[in-house]
Amino acid sequence: MHDYSIVSALIEQCQLHVSNHQANSIVRVALKVGVFSGVEPSLLQTAFDTFKLEGICRNAELKLTIQPLRLQCHDCGGDAEPTSRTIVGPACGSFNT
Ligand SMILES: [Zn+2]
Repeated sequence: MHDYSIVSALIEQCQLHVSNHQANSIVRVALKVGVFSGVEPSLLQTAFDTFKLEGICRNAELKLTIQPLRLQCHDCGGDAEPTSRTIVGPACGSFNT
């Protein structure tokens, strides 16, 4: 259900872009999904393929890119791409990230 509401909002955004740019169709929708966003890419793909059929995105391909979490520490300037969900600075342990 979560995925369907995301896709519904996404397609609404696409329709807005089409209106704003006097376009006729959409070929590709490129979406970046945060690795810890809680979004399951395959479910999002299925939801898109289902919802797109009746709208402006009916001929569009959904291109999903998984984005890593990036942290930058405001105290020491260190940065990292942690492999688990965290807000702690990688080098100094600060929460000021
Ligand atoms: Zn730090």
